[in-house]
Amino acid sequence: MKIGIDPGHGGEDPGAVGPGGTYEKDVNLAIAQRVQFLLSRMGIETLMTRSDDSSKSLMTRSNSLNGARVDFAISIHCNSSANPGPNYISTYIQAAGGEAELLAMRVQARMAQSTGWPDGGVRIQNLHMTRETQMPAILCECGFISNPAQELMLKSSEVQTRIARAIVDGISEFLNIETGPPAVEQWKQDIMEQAMKEGLVKSEHDAEEAAPKWFVLQVALNLLDALRKT
Ligand SMILES: [Zn+2]
Repeated sequence: MKIGIDPGHGGEDPGAVGPGGTYEKDVNLAIAQRVQFLLSRMGIETLMTRSDDSSKSLMTRSNSLNGARVDFAISIHCNSSANPGPNYISTYIQAAGGEAELLAMRVQARMAQSTGWPDGGVRIQNLHMTRETQMPAILCECGFISNPAQELMLKSSEVQTRIARAIVDGISEFLNIETGPPAVEQWKQDIMEQAMKEGLVKSEHDAEEAAPKWFVLQVALNLLDALRKT
């Protein structure tokens, strides 16, 4: 499994520029880097079409994704309008009815939910990055950089992380990958089992859970009880 991540614009091309002077290219890269970090932490290989502030043509980007034969491609952009009003979040695909639409629906739902921004839904549009890529590809428009309130939020590291997390959660849901906590280590389970056998713990307990004071006191009382019996 290899996922292509394409942070829109870069270098001489700032993308859209917010009313406060924020460059779309910087927000796109910050979100993309967080997506890459979260995916690699899950053991998923990634390919970034740019990992710094460099200029890359659309053709170079689609060629590198096609050449690396990534399984899915995610382009990351921010939307912009001449009117400061629009503030929805949306995801674009080339056509309905394929894997890209299923992936887009999952990612879009997570992004709308985690940002709380108006849900612009999954939209169909003829775009280079969704058309010229040979794998299912989606393009996320992570809110409007032309909306003053949203521009401020898009600049914040916390919001960038939240959007990245939502994209990765959508991908995981689509791929059916568990992102839950790792399984309890065997040695913790062994201790819990032994304590049950000795009567120090009377019922099943989650070995990962922190022990509150009452629980520790109860175990100590059970220990005293067990000692008296011997
Ligand atoms: Zn863009």
